[in-house]
Amino acid sequence: MPEEFQWRKGQKEAIEQIVEAYHSKQYNTVILDAPVGSGKSLIAMCSSWILNQEGHKGYVLSSEISLQDQYEKDLHEFRLDWGSIKGLDNYECIDNFEKTSMGTCKIMGKEARKMPCYSECPYYVARDKASSSHTSMLNYAYWLAMMNEVNPRMDEAKQIFPKRDFTFCDEAHKILDIIQSTYSPKFSEKQAERIERLVEFFEVHKMGDYYDEFHPAVMRSIAHIIKKARKKEKLNGICGEFAGNRLALPFFIGLKVGELSMTPASVPQIKNMIRQIDSRDAENLVNEILRIPTTEGIKSRLSQFLTERDLIK
Ligand code: SF4
Repeated sequence: MPEEFQWRKGQKEAIEQIVEAYHSKQYNTVILDAPVGSGKSLIAMCSSWILNQEGHKGYVLSSEISLQDQYEKDLHEFRLDWGSIKGLDNYECIDNFEKTSMGTCKIMGKEARKMPCYSECPYYVARDKASSSHTSMLNYAYWLAMMNEVNPRMDEAKQIFPKRDFTFCDEAHKILDIIQSTYSPKFSEKQAERIERLVEFFEVHKMGDYYDEFHPAVMRSIAHIIKKARKKEKLNGICGEFAGNRLALPFFIGLKVGELSMTPASVPQIKNMIRQIDSRDAENLVNEILRIPTTEGIKSRLSQFLTERDLIK
């Protein structure tokens, strides 16, 4: 640490608790909620450094390039020799002075590694340094592209940014927006036509009148999808009115749904209920619910669960 450095209130304690939580292996996610200016970035860096000393490798992710620039300054100030990498177009090709995505090697369709300028290429130098650092600074957009698009196409041994022991997600409240703006579903013309025909069918036959989200088939489908997503460590969540439905909440908790998206008005009540529901009870409840053959039976069992805990009258 620089000589003039002074810890801010709570920083050391937060670092200790993060490292302890990592060692305990009891949790795979730790959430740090602290006000602006409390030095969360430093907490991420110090915790990473401690984990590095113990032989663990990881990532620190920033939500924006400007925040990543700030991290790079901090790395320099704290003399941490970690690599930091941004998207291709943040670097200039030193051969034709275009952005790297339009660099000479790209235009000529040549492998960058075989170019004489490779060892001095700003992008590849930064990327290779980040790849070999025990903690690497990436932004979410870059990290998501590596994990979801680049890595699946490569042998695990050849992945430049493989899965590591830990990841610090700075400004984690922005993750959902970032993912939504990075990935949006694409439908072919044919698929769009089929969806349109289906919607028409539902409207003409007034299928909405028969629909009930607590129908056993719907509940089983939700459970199936969430379990599969969790198994593959994919982001999962429920959105729309059903996510804020109090009756369904124990079912979602028992399934360990990653995220519930609801209207702001529902948030305080649902938060309060989440605090009062034991996740193990909810897990057992899910097994019961999936065996109940009727919509009414499911609603009644969920209602009984919440009434027993004084969560609904
Ligand atoms: S490897 Fe060379 S040619 Fe390719 S982008 Fe980098 S500097 Fe340009």
